[in-house]
Amino acid sequence: MDLLDIIETKKHKQELSDEQIRFFARAAADKSALDYQLASLLMAIRLNGMSDRETAVLSLEMAKTGDVLDPQIDGIPVDKHSTGGVGDTTTLVLVPLVAACGGKVIKMSGRGLGHTGGTIDKMESIRGMRVEMPEEEFIETVKKVGCCVVGQSQNLVPADKRLYALRDVTGTVDAIPLIASSIMSKKLAGGAKAIVLDVKTGSGAIMKTFEDSLKLSKAMVDIGTANGRRVAAYITNMQEPLGSHVGNALEVKDAIDVLSGRTQGPLLQASLLLGAQMLVLSSLAKDEEEGKQKLLYALETKAGLNKFKEMIEAQGGDPAVCDDVSLLPQAAFTQNVKATKSGYIHKVDAERIGLAAQALGAGRRSKEDVLDLSAGLVMHKRIGDKIQAGDSICTLYFNGEKDTDRIQKSILDTVEIISSPVDKPKLICAKVTEKGTEIY
Ligand code: URA
Repeated sequence: MDLLDIIETKKHKQELSDEQIRFFARAAADKSALDYQLASLLMAIRLNGMSDRETAVLSLEMAKTGDVLDPQIDGIPVDKHSTGGVGDTTTLVLVPLVAACGGKVIKMSGRGLGHTGGTIDKMESIRGMRVEMPEEEFIETVKKVGCCVVGQSQNLVPADKRLYALRDVTGTVDAIPLIASSIMSKKLAGGAKAIVLDVKTGSGAIMKTFEDSLKLSKAMVDIGTANGRRVAAYITNMQEPLGSHVGNALEVKDAIDVLSGRTQGPLLQASLLLGAQMLVLSSLAKDEEEGKQKLLYALETKAGLNKFKEMIEAQGGDPAVCDDVSLLPQAAFTQNVKATKSGYIHKVDAERIGLAAQALGAGRRSKEDVLDLSAGLVMHKRIGDKIQAGDSICTLYFNGEKDTDRIQKSILDTVEIISSPVDKPKLICAKVTEKGTEIY
């Protein structure tokens, strides 16, 4: 077998056999395939698609190209994955809350990508926090504390590392079978038996339309189910940032504020929904309502906040940050972006808000960029809110010289204000499980 045959098969819109898919995944990982052959096959897949079977086989074969964790943990190891958003800090809220309710949360996270933030970067704003650790220690920490969040180990799905880098430069990122297999191969290798997926939809998400988000959700649920995992996916809105804080230390502060009971709103709402489903899939709650009540109890009693401290300590970080958020990196300068007219907020483009935070230093433009962990912005208004001319729409946090005139202008351009009242967008759009789809 060689890659050219496989390219020909896909070029002629035929299904690849299991063996062909295995050959492709291995060739990507062991570097025996040439970049241009892989790129050609990726484009053939982008144009001609893959069946559900092909996508499921590709996910598993990609997972098997590197380490596959099989942790021996009492209970059902559970993971949660977001397809990426702006101000999306649910991981830091729900991981300790779920663990405080008896869950075993085994979580490998990523770094920020483009306009979207990454949990690992956020955690590094806590002094001393170790986000890399040997697999045995990672699993021991999950057993002892109930949760641990680390970066993906070096040898986790090497096929994806190569294919993702090629997709990024060959116009083949936006292919649902490729996105689904990229995400699910890492989930299958990561050791969780139960997986809750948060598929973002809207301007700030990788999937801009509800229809594509639904296709991606179904594909990922099918892959997980076909591989013996308990899986549920929620489609959630990413038209505007989820939490009000966008930026690394700022989002850690937002998560601590939620866990301390100081902040409510969409970040808490989404965390409760996803966390409740994690408890259901872990067999720790009979339904979502019971799961939510358990999480609310952990929130009220501060059991979630205490669990976060325990996790931070186990990972070498300074847990005092949970009692004093001023210990997080602080920006030297702030600036308010003020509304130029009165009315109601009609539109906030999450992607452009994410790019504004990136321009302030919170995100990378290239892999080599060093983040400013204290930089970012805090939104004071959401879609549907009333606003007066001169009110602050958001506050910018930054250090050193930044082109804040341009950043202010881009925020003012993206936040549309109209004279008539605007309904608040719904946060949760749909739920997908192996049993079917519920649209809300
Ligand atoms: N996240 C991933 O891990 N892979 C993709 O292809 C897209 C988003």
